[in-house]
Amino acid sequence: MGLLDEIILGGHISTAGGIYLSPERAAQFGFRSFQIFSKNQMQWKAKPITADDAEKFVSGSRKRKFSKLMVHASYLLNMGSKDGDLSQKVKDGLKEELKRADLLQIEYLVIHPGSATGTNESSAIRNISEMINSTFYDGMKVMLLLETSAGQGSTVGHSFQQLAAMIDGVSEKNMIGVCFDTCHVFAAGYDIKSPSGYAETFDQFDSTVGRHYLKGFHLNDSKKDRGSRVDRHEQIGKGLLGLEGISNFINDKSLREFPMVLETPSGESGYPSDIKALESVFGKVQ
Ligand SMILES: [Zn+2]
Ligand SMILES: [Zn+2]
Repeated sequence: MGLLDEIILGGHISTAGGIYLSPERAAQFGFRSFQIFSKNQMQWKAKPITADDAEKFVSGSRKRKFSKLMVHASYLLNMGSKDGDLSQKVKDGLKEELKRADLLQIEYLVIHPGSATGTNESSAIRNISEMINSTFYDGMKVMLLLETSAGQGSTVGHSFQQLAAMIDGVSEKNMIGVCFDTCHVFAAGYDIKSPSGYAETFDQFDSTVGRHYLKGFHLNDSKKDRGSRVDRHEQIGKGLLGLEGISNFINDKSLREFPMVLETPSGESGYPSDIKALESVFGKVQ
């Protein structure tokens, strides 16, 4: 059995020309899952998704048997700060992202939790939980995934304790989960490179956050070293996490149920070589 038979591998896919074109684009790489932005990630405003586009997206994804799809939320949505006007914009923006994901029948909306701008860490964490509670709606189907952060600047979510505290403040616990970004967790300081460090990291995850909140992965190498707290993705095998670290994840049979989505810097043009790199260590016993 090859890599793509065993792993729900995916990549971040462009929606250029129309959201409904992304399933076909993802299929070219042999992916079984993928991630998109449902709107421009650097802008507040978005064109509504038409019923026709949504229908074409859903049928295109079903036809190709994709599963566990992800939308990555806009980078503008900082849930950590609580400043009147901006806070309202974030609330409206997040609600819209959730509704757009539901319209596309996508399982997960992945969001960077936010940063403690103008506040401290514990208030930022409280703001994040409150923001989430204020945006969930009746009949919502998409699950919100908090992405592990690298800890750059004043961002929160770089420790499992912080993520656990955010989840603790969310009322609808069955609608919240975690997306584990390999680059970010490494940059945040966790040793996921050595086999013993990897096992220890997951023990910590399980005892603080809880394994049942783990829903998916962003599979990226890191340009910066462990503990740098700098968020710079690298092509698979070309960074400091390296194939040594990445192979822990793809050879961990307990992770087979999770989508693993590439967000490497060359995007679609780099996926074929990323896949080759993954295949070179897949199935090799440590
Ligand atoms: Zn990510
Ligand atoms: Zn990143």
